[in-house]
Amino acid sequence: MTTPPETTPAASAFDAHHAPSKQIIENCVHCGFCLPVCPTYVLWNEEMDSPRGRIYLMKIASEGQATMNPQWVSHFDSCLGCMACMTACPSGVDYGKLIEATRAQIERHHPRTLGEKLHRRFLFGVFTRPDRLRLLRWPLLAYQKSGLQSLIRGIGLLKIFPKRLQAMEALMPKLGEKEPLAELTPARGTARKRVGLLLGCVQREFFPGVNAATARVLAAEGCEVVAPKEQACCGALMVHAGEETGALALAKKTIDVFERANVETIVTNAAGCGSNVKEYGHLLRDEPNYAERARAFAAKCKDITEVLMEVAPRATRNPLRLRVAFHDSCHLQHAQGVRSQPRQLLAGIPGLLRIRGYLQFGAARCRQCAWRPQGATDRAA
Ligand code: SF4
Ligand code: SF4
Repeated sequence: MTTPPETTPAASAFDAHHAPSKQIIENCVHCGFCLPVCPTYVLWNEEMDSPRGRIYLMKIASEGQATMNPQWVSHFDSCLGCMACMTACPSGVDYGKLIEATRAQIERHHPRTLGEKLHRRFLFGVFTRPDRLRLLRWPLLAYQKSGLQSLIRGIGLLKIFPKRLQAMEALMPKLGEKEPLAELTPARGTARKRVGLLLGCVQREFFPGVNAATARVLAAEGCEVVAPKEQACCGALMVHAGEETGALALAKKTIDVFERANVETIVTNAAGCGSNVKEYGHLLRDEPNYAERARAFAAKCKDITEVLMEVAPRATRNPLRLRVAFHDSCHLQHAQGVRSQPRQLLAGIPGLLRIRGYLQFGAARCRQCAWRPQGATDRAA
């Protein structure tokens, strides 16, 4: 009897450096509970643009049955990274770690077109650099205030520009006066905590009022707030786009800056940044000088709503007669799992949302992901 020839297993499409975890891939039991919450699946009804399909694509690539060709890559490029699938998954599949690892592999092995390269260079060269965003602020302010924006939008001139530029123009926030933020905001009354504030890049330059309000509220609740001017980008944009080397450098810089600030908590108020810094322990796990420090740093990171729910209220809650809709941010609810704290904080404001004796928290459906979180409407007497 002749022995059959030994077959060599096909080579994985991934290299050995942080390949998507086979263990996590195996955790997927293909139940499909994640499909109806995935915005790209809802839009296109295409299995390979669902979480289950993407996990299957990772599996066959890791087994050498698929290559990183443009079509394979396109299914990962189209993932919004909203993490709605993680909330929906009954098997606890950590899709976040899988997509992060897959995207880093794609950037190492898949040649991007010239247009993609230029677009990515622009994104990473500008949106991770507050100093460059600051320079961009003035021409954008002039574009909005001069009436040029209304004119261009009105006559539909934007249609002649590339789709990516049109999308960026549509997302551009309405710019106003910059609200100053001191490097140290003292606590009102006796200080209960010394906290650091992660300023974000776009947040710092385009939504400065949010940072200023965050510091005011924390100070009113007895927190001394340190907002180190030297802090750079936390690296969220790069991590989420598979740019591992750049992300590591930015994460190390952020840790250095906040260690020097000597704070007990690091407060985040932009959910994408918050979910990134909470994962520094994972990102820097192979860095001998940073692995332990990254874990300690991540353990200190909290969303502003988590911090405020931890301290007993000190500032007077004055009545506000307003009807409010609360829209859960994807990264706050799905990546960080913070859902109840914002609602509880709103419930603590007298008069707010009081409509015919009920407190109503209308949670709007996200236009991007069509995801309606559980318990979106809370009622209290
Ligand atoms: S819900 Fe979880 S286990 Fe089920 S298909 Fe989606 S990722 Fe896999
Ligand atoms: S992260 Fe969002 S877009 Fe991506 S697979 Fe999960 S649900 Fe779909």
